[in-house]
Amino acid sequence: FHTTTMSLSAVVNVPRLNKTITVPTGLFINNEFVPSVDSKELIHAINPATEEVLCSVVAGSEKDIDVAVAAARKAFQTTWGKNITGFERSMLINKLADLIERDAQELAELEALNNGKPIRIARDFDIGDSIQCLRYYAGWADKIMGQTIEVDNKSKLAFTRHDPVGVCGQIIPWNYPINMWSWKVAPALAVGCTIVMKPSELTPLTALKLSELVKEAGFPSGVINTVPSLGQVGGAALSAHLDVDKVAFTGSTVTGRKIMEAAAKSNLKKVSLELGGKSPHLVFESADLEQAASWAALGICYNSGQDCTAGSRVYVQESVYDKFLELLVAKVKAQIIGDGLDDQTGGGPVVSKTQYDRVWGYIESGKQEGAVPILGGVKREGKGYYVDPTIFTNIQPDMKIVKEEIFGPVLSVGVFKTEEEAILLANNTSYGLGAGLHSSDANQCMRVSSALEAGTVWVNQYNILNNNVPFGGKKQSGIGRELGSYALEEYTSIKAVHWNFGEKLEWPL
Ligand code: NAD
Repeated sequence: FHTTTMSLSAVVNVPRLNKTITVPTGLFINNEFVPSVDSKELIHAINPATEEVLCSVVAGSEKDIDVAVAAARKAFQTTWGKNITGFERSMLINKLADLIERDAQELAELEALNNGKPIRIARDFDIGDSIQCLRYYAGWADKIMGQTIEVDNKSKLAFTRHDPVGVCGQIIPWNYPINMWSWKVAPALAVGCTIVMKPSELTPLTALKLSELVKEAGFPSGVINTVPSLGQVGGAALSAHLDVDKVAFTGSTVTGRKIMEAAAKSNLKKVSLELGGKSPHLVFESADLEQAASWAALGICYNSGQDCTAGSRVYVQESVYDKFLELLVAKVKAQIIGDGLDDQTGGGPVVSKTQYDRVWGYIESGKQEGAVPILGGVKREGKGYYVDPTIFTNIQPDMKIVKEEIFGPVLSVGVFKTEEEAILLANNTSYGLGAGLHSSDANQCMRVSSALEAGTVWVNQYNILNNNVPFGGKKQSGIGRELGSYALEEYTSIKAVHWNFGEKLEWPL
């Protein structure tokens, strides 16, 4: 984060592929890339595999947020909102999905460079899912409808309209920059909202590249605006803005609390929060242990553990503990960790120096508190923010590594004797985002999935999401739901219209 002057695009080298990508580096407001109205600050986008600066983008100020919100308000009142049909919105969202599909490889390369994740995973999972997400909500755009409600058959009728809530501030994290962008914009656009998007200061590049596609797809100006900015500047300004009707956020619980406070103190805007987790994964003795170990490995290794649903606590029934642990270690070891631009790579570095230090801080605290690292826990030499997957055993419920969200590939494995004990251990957390269980006893699966306090429970699998199934948290993991038809409600304001076509009022009563 530095002060200098800059142009509004940059050329980024893609080292191993011998190519370059031109990236817009300004703020995207009213379908144009523009400089800040008053800020000379820059955000440096860093490649976590090499620790080198890829390029720098404008760091938007509070005033830039004002300009972007005004653009979104104008679009809402003139070309979007109630001024466009659902069918037309659907066509535009589908067109955007087509353009992302066309550019999937380049977007994946940029995502890999700025976030560290493997290109293949960015392309086939993050971007593949994002395209589907946009198409799923494009399908909803002309099916947003209320109810007709019988009040009195002779003289009265009521009906509801599902109106777009208005201008939405959307604040997204760095772990799935393109995916979180799509989860946020798709339902908002489908119902007719306009958007000011604030990407994470760590990963602003793909949101800017996607903004080029927004314009190419033909969205009217001001419908989607993008303001890269520091969280405490642009994010805070959006959350406290009097002309923002809703703020949607994914990130840490600490920040979620600040956003809700700012919303409450300003205009009581609608808020949805998708926050952290400390998700448990239960392995019962009847489980297919080979499969349970594969899903548990995926649960902690996927995206280098930088996943709100990371299965970071695994509890195993005593009778199968040793066997399961052996399988798990072998599965975790099988993943190749390296530069995301290498085709062989299954997992990359963590996103930043801050995150690297944070995760290593947890690994050290685990060792100090007496947990035993049976895999990993040793730093690599050389460049790049790499953390090899680390598995701790001999854990206790009050250890920091067991209680707090680490957001890295660090797994705690514990043991239980009975189903009741497993449920108690699983629910012993302030979070409630995801939970997994493995068992071949269908009654047990039903009992345990019902007892687990989480917004999503996976039975005999883990971390699989679908665009048509809701996702969100209980307890301190969040408020509201993303995905599925449920997400539409987050962007909708319901109006009840009471219609009198016959009753005469006898006044006074
Ligand atoms: P964060 O919550 O601070 O950042 C997420 C987003 O919020 C970013 O766009 C950031 O700019 C913005 N933000 C920060 N402060 C803000 C404020 N005061 N008002 C409004 N917006 C603000 O997360 P982080 O600092 O990047 O990561 C810290 C920890 O958060 C991680 O280690 C992890 O535990 C957690 N996290 C969770 C998720 C998730 O998907 N649930 C994603 C990222 C980080």
